[in-house]
This record gives sequence, C-alpha cells and structure tokens, in this order.
Amino acid sequence: KNNSELEEIKALEEQYESISADVSSFDELPLSERTRQGLRDHEFTTPTDIQREAVRLALQGHDVLGAAKTGSGKTLAFLIPMLELLYRRRWTRVDGLGALIITPTRELAYQIFAVLGNIGQQHDFSAGLIIGGKDLKFERKRMDQVNIIVCTPGRLLQHMDENPLFSADSLQMLILDEADRCLDMGFAKAMNAIIGNLPTERQTLLFSATQTKSVRDLCRLSLKEPVYVSVHEKA
Ligand code: ADP
Ligand code: MG
Repeated sequence: KNNSELEEIKALEEQYESISADVSSFDELPLSERTRQGLRDHEFTTPTDIQREAVRLALQGHDVLGAAKTGSGKTLAFLIPMLELLYRRRWTRVDGLGALIITPTRELAYQIFAVLGNIGQQHDFSAGLIIGGKDLKFERKRMDQVNIIVCTPGRLLQHMDENPLFSADSLQMLILDEADRCLDMGFAKAMNAIIGNLPTERQTLLFSATQTKSVRDLCRLSLKEPVYVSVHEKA
C-alpha cells in the first residue's frame, strides 16, 4: 500500500505542469483517489471557475490571491489543493499542524469544517474547529494532535498566546478565507500577529471578494509572488 501510494503521488506530480486551464470535470484534474472519491460521494462533478483556476495554480505550488464573489465555490477552491498537499507530503496524525484555515465568522468556520468532513472523508487527517464559544480547555487538549485547523482569528491568537500545546512549526499551508471581511471586522492586528508567528516556508492561498488597500497590505505580508485569480468579470 505504501508503495502504491508513493507511485500515485509521483504520477500526480508529473501531471501538474500540464493541467489544462479549461477542464470541464474534476476527473480531468490530477487528484488523489481519496479526494476524487470524496468529490464523487458528494456529487461534485464540474469545477466552478474559481476552482478550476485556483486548484490548478495551487497544485503547481503557487501562492494564490483569489477574488471571487460569494457563492462562487471558494471553499473547494482551497480545500482540494490543501488535501492534496498534505496527502503528497504523506502527512499523518503525528506530524502535527499541516494546514490552517482562517475565516471571519463562526458560521463560516462551521461550514468549511463540514465541507472538509465531506470531501476529506477518505483521507486520514484529523481536523479541529477553533472558534470560541466552546470550552477552551477542551479545544486545548486536542491541539497537539490536529493536522488541520479551521478557526476565527481572535480565538486562534488566544491559543497561540496561551496554549503551550499549540505549535505551528510544521505548517505547510495557510488559507485566508474572506480576508476583506476579517479586516473589516477588526481582526487586522490579530491576523498580523498570527502570520508573524507562522513559518515562512509555506504555501498561502488568500481569498477576498474585494481588493482594498488593507487587503493589499495583508497580501504583501502573507503571500510570496502570488498569482492573481479573478472571476468577477465572467458570470
Ligand atoms: P463561496 O465560499 O465562494 O461563497 P462556497 O464554497 O460556499 O462559495 O459554495 C457555494 C455553494 O456552491 C455551496 O452550496 C456549494 O456546495 C456549491 N458548490 C461549490 N462548488 C461546487 C461545484 N463544483 N459543483 C456544484 N456545486 C458547488
Ligand atoms: Mg466562502
């Protein structure tokens, strides 16, 4: 099984540079069998525009700055490449935190967590929701065993500051969802502090419906030579 997994990963990686920009089905993308099955089981067949663009660029290893309105399918646009990255790195429970997803509100965090549970079902990663309003002690105990965290900025910062079990040293991917709303809600300081605490050797995907000056500042702080993807004009 280990060998066939390595072979699968190698075969996927060989296809990344030649992914077509106009795939019409998830089947045409070089995705792991586990992710494919997660998508199939939840009846996702055709990628949306932002998914087509962001998944291709993220698989190729780029940092991505994505602009797309609500309802365009941004959740899968970041969850798919995130799952693929951890799978490729053969991430396991003992490897610690591999991916961090920051979103402005509890409801959005819940939604992302639910979609992750669906399309990530066949993978072996552990995931945690860090959103406040729950028992901090309970969240705390499990922090050192979690591979993927979905969180709101304030609560995550609280863990970073106060929880000795929390470590982001092994982080592979940072995802900033609805970055403009995070900033509008007064999380700029928390976001800066969080990003300042993360390893710089990582891939970052940032999504924002609008490109304000404060979003551009956040991009400068968090992204390296990002590829800009916008799907506003189409629709
Ligand atoms: P956004 O974050 O851009 O607002 P979401 O990721 O929440 O968008 O997706 C919006 C809706 O579209 C959800 O109900 C989701 O299940 C659905 N959706 C997303 N991607 C696809 C797809 N490829 N095919 C069909 N439905 C999709
Ligand atoms: Mg969203």
